[in-house]
Amino acid sequence: MDDRFYECHGHIMMGGADYASSFDALASCGIGYFRDGGDAGGITAEAKQYVKEHPELGLEYVTPVFAIHRKGRYGGIVGRPYEDFKEFRALVAEAASKGADFIKIMYSGIVTFKEYGELSTPPLDAEEIKELVNIAHGEGFAVMAHCNGRDTILAAIEAGTDSIEHGVFMDEECEAALAESGTIWVPTIAAIAAFCNRPGFDEEIADRTAKALKASVSRASALGAKIASGSDCGAFRVPIGPGCLDEYALLRECGVPSERIAAANELIRGRFRR
Ligand SMILES: [Zn+2]
Repeated sequence: MDDRFYECHGHIMMGGADYASSFDALASCGIGYFRDGGDAGGITAEAKQYVKEHPELGLEYVTPVFAIHRKGRYGGIVGRPYEDFKEFRALVAEAASKGADFIKIMYSGIVTFKEYGELSTPPLDAEEIKELVNIAHGEGFAVMAHCNGRDTILAAIEAGTDSIEHGVFMDEECEAALAESGTIWVPTIAAIAAFCNRPGFDEEIADRTAKALKASVSRASALGAKIASGSDCGAFRVPIGPGCLDEYALLRECGVPSERIAAANELIRGRFRR
C-alpha cells in the first residue's frame, strides 16, 4: 500500500459517472485506498461488493453505506435522518446489516460562503454528539464526522470522534485540542478551495475561508495534529481520482510533511474498519 495514494474522503456515487468508471479513474491515478462519505441511496454497499469482485483494481474501499443526520438539519444529500436516539440506534443497526465499515455522522451544516463563518443549519450540541459517538463505539464502529464551526469541533474532539471532516472555522484552541487528542483531521481543502470563483457565491468570502482553513492546517500540523488526505471528491469541481492528488499537493503547500500525511492516512485505514 505504501506506494499508493489514499483518498480518505470521497463520494463514489457523486460526480456524475457510474461507480465502475469512477473506480477505473481511481486505479489510473494510483489510488489504493478510498473511504467513502456515504450516499443517500445506500448504493455504496453495492459498490463495495463490486470492488471485492474486481481485485485487479488494487483498491481497498470502505463505506458507512449511508451517512446519518438529525432530521431537518444538513445531510440529506449523503444519508438518512433520525429524530431521537432510538432511531439513531436503528440506523446504526441497519448500516451494520448492510456491511458498513464505520458510521458517518453529520454534526453541523455546510459552509454557505454567503456570510463569513456562516453554516447552513444549526449544529448538534455537545451532549448529543457525545451520546451518538458512544452508541456507535458501543457497536464497534469508528465515527467519521462532518463537522464545521469552533464549538462543534471542540465538542467533537471532546466526545472522542475518530475523524473530523472539513473542520472549517477552527481557532487556535481547536488546533491545540486536536493535536493533543487521538482525533484525525481530514480538512478536504480541495473541496473548500473549489468554491473560489464559483458563480453564485461571494468570491472574497470563499477566498477568505479557504485561506483560513489552510492557515489552520499549517498551525495544527506544526503542533503535531494528525492530518489525513481526503479531497471530498465527487463534490463540486473535485474530480474522482485527480482530486485526491490535488489534496496531497494542498496539504504539502500548507507544510504538512509527506510522511506525516502517510502516517495519518494509515491511522484512518487501521481504524475505519469493523
Ligand atoms: Zn463529503
